[in-house]
Amino acid sequence: MTQQALFIIFGGTGDLAYRKLYPSLFRLYEKGYLKDNFAVIGTARRPWTDDHYHEVVMNAVADDGHESDRTNSELARKFASHFYYQSHNVNDTEHYVALRNLADKLDEKYDLQGNRIYYLAMAPWFFGTIAAHLKSEKLITDHGYNRLIIEKPFGRDLKTAKELNDDISAAFSEDQIYRIDHYLGKEAIQSIAALRFGNQIVSSLWNKEHIDNIQITLAESLGVEERAGYYETAGALRDMVQNHILQIISLLTMEKPSKYTASELRDRKVEALQNIKVYSKEEALQNFVRGQYGEDADHTQSDYRHEEGTDEQSQIETFVSGKLETENKTLAGVPIYVRTGKRLARKSTQINVVFKNVDTNIFDSTDADSNLLDQNVLTLYIEPDQGYRLDLNVKDGGQTYGIMPIHLDYHKTAAEKAKIPEAYEKLIHDALDGNRTNFAHWHEVAQAWRIVDVIREAWDSEKADFPNYVSGSMGPQASQDLLKRDHRNWIFDA
Ligand code: NAD
Repeated sequence: MTQQALFIIFGGTGDLAYRKLYPSLFRLYEKGYLKDNFAVIGTARRPWTDDHYHEVVMNAVADDGHESDRTNSELARKFASHFYYQSHNVNDTEHYVALRNLADKLDEKYDLQGNRIYYLAMAPWFFGTIAAHLKSEKLITDHGYNRLIIEKPFGRDLKTAKELNDDISAAFSEDQIYRIDHYLGKEAIQSIAALRFGNQIVSSLWNKEHIDNIQITLAESLGVEERAGYYETAGALRDMVQNHILQIISLLTMEKPSKYTASELRDRKVEALQNIKVYSKEEALQNFVRGQYGEDADHTQSDYRHEEGTDEQSQIETFVSGKLETENKTLAGVPIYVRTGKRLARKSTQINVVFKNVDTNIFDSTDADSNLLDQNVLTLYIEPDQGYRLDLNVKDGGQTYGIMPIHLDYHKTAAEKAKIPEAYEKLIHDALDGNRTNFAHWHEVAQAWRIVDVIREAWDSEKADFPNYVSGSMGPQASQDLLKRDHRNWIFDA
């Protein structure tokens, strides 16, 4: 169904708007989901003209494009003509009046029915000011919908997240707030529920009786690149664990929703996060490992502390691994190992669900020491590969009854992957639909901070001995030891 809405993008000249928002809006336009009745106001401090803004939008579409001639294409030009630029300092009340006048004018011109989406593609310390002004300067309409989309990071800890939430909640109700975690827009993450609840063989085994442990790896091969300024204030724990990894855990450990609706899913996810054990400081230190990359083995890649924009004594972690536990009844006691880092051997996001060994091995052993067969592992490939793998044991084809491991594989082809809407496209589409299924609720964000804050505080109380892993490896030795002490190994070992 074609939508009628005005987007007001704060941070319209920024990287996120250019790389993600304009191309996503274009794809929705190409598909006819946005048509004649939409308009976009881009705001930022720079004094751009509408004409210049149109060029920028067309370039963004072209840079992202599959078709090289999109810039000149009539469609991109028509699309860009819906964009208006308003120079705006978010701290200046007068500017909101100008913004409101333009918004009202466009509402009438494009017949937008008072529907507004405010997209805050800016640093989070502006969110409160913007939300307050949107209310006080009456940009929020009394007819149509008003939805606020905000980007991570949502605070630096529970305290600051709560302050931020209080600020925006003074102008917007929870059901008007769309907190983006772009992992929730990824097809393979959305598929977790389908795999778990759409297959009897999976759902009947998804419990502590059958699962030995769950491993989640979000490995990046790149270093900090141009993001040192932000990264120096964040680190891997805040940047990846508090949001993406804990969201993935909630989808993996939640109880079955009675229906796949936003409210059911939210309740189950909130419960799942509340069931994750919040560690004491000592437990956090025992169960979490931090790392920072050094040079690679050939000394061709710089260590983190010599990247542009980082502190030479930086205590910021570029790697985290840890063990979490859930107290929910189905999976209680099943360790959940998580790992994320920069400059690791290979870029891969994957989830490995490791099943328990068969009770008794009645066959000749493949492993003389333990008489154990290989464990069954169900792997979910999230990115860049998308697919599934199931490791099984079968007869080896010989005269005697030997056993060998095989795997069943399904990987999406490049053509299939190309057809899947990009995460931001999906999430903007959902926001237009008023569908909050794939956005983080405040209760989820708050609980995730409770889990992470303890680890952060424990680490901040002790000086780290960095750098402690070689670029191109799979992180510090302590990360391997974390599993070894439980007589386990990381399944993904590039
Ligand atoms: P950016 O620095 O490229 O852009 C920031 C924008 O804010 C610019 O348009 C700038 O002009 C504007 N701005 C700054 N101060 C202003 C003021 N006082 N008044 C008006 N405008 C002002 O940042 P970005 O990379 O686009 O990121 C935006 C937000 O999205 C941040 O919260 C970031 O953490 C988050 N985010 C970005 C990405 C990404 O891929 N870039 C990914 C995830 C989250």
